[in-house]
Amino acid sequence: MREHPPNHLDPRAPLVLDTRDLPRSPGAMRAVERVVPAPEHLGLELIRVPEGAELSLRLRMESVSEGVLVSAQVHAPLVGECGRCLREISDTLDVSFQELYAYEHSTTDDTTDEDEVGRMQGDLINLEPELGHAVVLALPNHPVCRPDCPGLCPECGVHWDELPEDHHHRQVDARWAALEQFNN
Ligand SMILES: [Zn+2]
Ligand SMILES: [Zn+2]
Repeated sequence: MREHPPNHLDPRAPLVLDTRDLPRSPGAMRAVERVVPAPEHLGLELIRVPEGAELSLRLRMESVSEGVLVSAQVHAPLVGECGRCLREISDTLDVSFQELYAYEHSTTDDTTDEDEVGRMQGDLINLEPELGHAVVLALPNHPVCRPDCPGLCPECGVHWDELPEDHHHRQVDARWAALEQFNN
């Protein structure tokens, strides 16, 4: 039998689910809706859910023979930076995930690895790791302010939106520059 660390989850923590109200008979269900402050480090370098922002969670807990199946829908605000022009991005994210959390000492608990199936700690479920994975997977690796963002002129760093259509820079070759000086 697997050794369990002592129960250290706080039942009042925003991303901890207490399943005491859920009968441990397969098919029993409970729906929970809550709005919680976003934990820190929820996102990627260029785009993220700001820490403390409102995360809206719609959760369904369902008793199955070996544990509790949680289906979650998450709605969150996003802030970030356009990878092409560095303008600020604000957006929202909707993501859902489903995860089985095995009862302590159930067969599933004893026969699977920690990373295959979630684990309950007593009656408590820590949603944070799975929620973090789901959010990060749903984020764009290359966020842009709009799909056709043209980015910045590589020469002067001005956004192409703010430049005339024929904007260009004279190619000044070092040799020509020397000649021009000579001519003056
Ligand atoms: Zn942009
Ligand atoms: Zn330019």
